[in-house]
Parts: sequence; structure tokens; C-alpha cells
Amino acid sequence: MYRRYAEGVAIYPQAAQHPTALTIAGFDPSSGAGATADLLTFAAHGIFATAALTATTVQSTRGVFAVHAEDPGRLRETLFCLEEDLPPAGIKIGMLASTDVLSVVAEYVGHVRAQRAVHVVLDPVLRASSGATLLQAALPLAAFQTLFPLVDAITPNLSEAAALTGQPCDVPADMERCAAALKRQYPQLTVLLTGGHLSVPADLLDDDTGVNWFPGEHIATTCTHGTGCAFSTALVAARMQGRSWPAATVAAKRFVAAALRDAVPHGSGAGPMALLPQLGRRAQAGGASPAHVPTASRR
Ligand code: PLP
Repeated sequence: MYRRYAEGVAIYPQAAQHPTALTIAGFDPSSGAGATADLLTFAAHGIFATAALTATTVQSTRGVFAVHAEDPGRLRETLFCLEEDLPPAGIKIGMLASTDVLSVVAEYVGHVRAQRAVHVVLDPVLRASSGATLLQAALPLAAFQTLFPLVDAITPNLSEAAALTGQPCDVPADMERCAAALKRQYPQLTVLLTGGHLSVPADLLDDDTGVNWFPGEHIATTCTHGTGCAFSTALVAARMQGRSWPAATVAAKRFVAAALRDAVPHGSGAGPMALLPQLGRRAQAGGASPAHVPTASRR
């Protein structure tokens, strides 16, 4: 059961000076996606971030092999414990694993919203690229009905938009229809529908000013793990830095494109991106001392 962790301690003044972000996401032990990728992304933007885990996954670059949803009571304790000491100015919500976990997150975000202004972006993750189910919910839109009214923006990809609306989402005209359908139901939502898998990649932003298209580019790399996680987190970071939705979209797209372009291979499957410049090929080519690799033959 949740209890107060810091009775009577005034927390908000220092929080305003150095804004903290929070990711509410799953743990990917291979560090390509989920909370770890989000922390790296916030760090790359100069923002200190905390993390509350919604699930532990068993995965590598080769795919997701098991998902263990977090205990909802433990997640509630974590969220309210952090809230008292490190209240976030921006929140990224990723994989939610179960409807019980989702309910706790909705309770927490509702609580925060009632206290103060906060930027909240939800990546409505349903499945991993490898196909594994990351939210156990028979009806995805119904599952999100407590959370969608509480967040500023959602960042579905094509298959998530199709699952949420029950409509096909394969070509740009479908994307406009799906975004409009979501906005009809939740008019306060900014919908950022990512079309990285279109034949000509482009993202659609449907916000209060109307529909805007942001052309993308195809970047040839196998290091594509966690692109959705990093994109939605970079959006929160850009909003915390005061950018409009269109400017935040451009900034988040640039961030992910650079992280993809700069990535060096790790693992034998979909490898991690270079979310920090120090992890990328430019730093390594430029003489940043690579990690020491022990060699078995040196005896
Ligand atoms: N694992 C976790 C914990 C995630 O949060 C996500 C995406 O949100 C994934 C895996 C899936 O990443 P990908 O679609 O790049 O495989």
C-alpha cells in the first residue's frame, strides 16, 4: 500500500529549477528499447530522468521471449514515491503490459494533472517489432480509455493506429482517417502517427492547428530496436524545452535519424541505436577510446 515517503518536505521549488523527466516503461535487458533507451534519450537532451517499470521482459536483439508485467501495487508505490521527491515536468509512457498496470498509470497521471502542469506523451505500444504482445488487452482502444483523456499526445505507428481504430492504416490517406477518428473521440489529443514503414516514410501530426505531414527518409541500418521508444521520449524532451508540436516533431525525428545513422552494430538481430553521441560511429572513428575488449588468445 502506498504511504508518504517524505512527510512535510517542500519539493516543488527545486523541481522548478531543474526539471526532471519520468519514463513509465518496460525493462529491456538488451538496452535497445524501453526504460533504458528512454533514460539515454533524456540524457542526450540534457534532461535528468527517473524510471518506473511496468514490466520486465526477457529479450535480446533477436526478439522478445517473455514478458512479466510489474505488480500494480509496487508500481503505484514507485510512482508516488518518486512524485514526492522528484516530481516530473515531463512524462513518457511506453509499454504497459497489462490493464491492471495501465489503471495504476492512469490513476497516477490523473493525480499529477490535478496538481500541476506536466507534459505527457503516450506511446500506445501493443506489440514488439518481432511480434511479441506488449499489452495484454482484447480491445486496445477500450483499454486506453482511462489514459487517453489524461495525456497530451499519442504516437501510434501504422499497426497500432489500425488496432486502435479498427480501420486499415497502410497508406497516407488511411493515416489521415485514423488520426481524425482518434481525435473525434479524444479532441484534446495531439496525434502523431508515425509512418516509418510507408514506402515513402512520413509522419502525420494532427494537433489543434490541423494536419501536418513530416517527410522522413529511409536509413539503411539493422540497428532499429527501440525507435518508437526514443521518438516519443525525444518528443517529451522537446516539449519540456518549450517547442511547439511541429517543432518538437522535427526535433524528435532528427534525433532518431541521427541515432540510426550513427549506430554501430551490437548483437545479431535488431541492434540498439546510438542514443548518446559517445556510442556512435562518429565518436569511435574520431578516437574516443573504445571499450577494452579482452582477448582469449593473450596468454
Ligand atoms: N521492449 C520494451 C520494453 C519496449 O518498451 C518496446 C517498445 O516500446 C519494445 C521492447 C519493442 O521495441 P521494438 O518494437 O523496437 O522491438
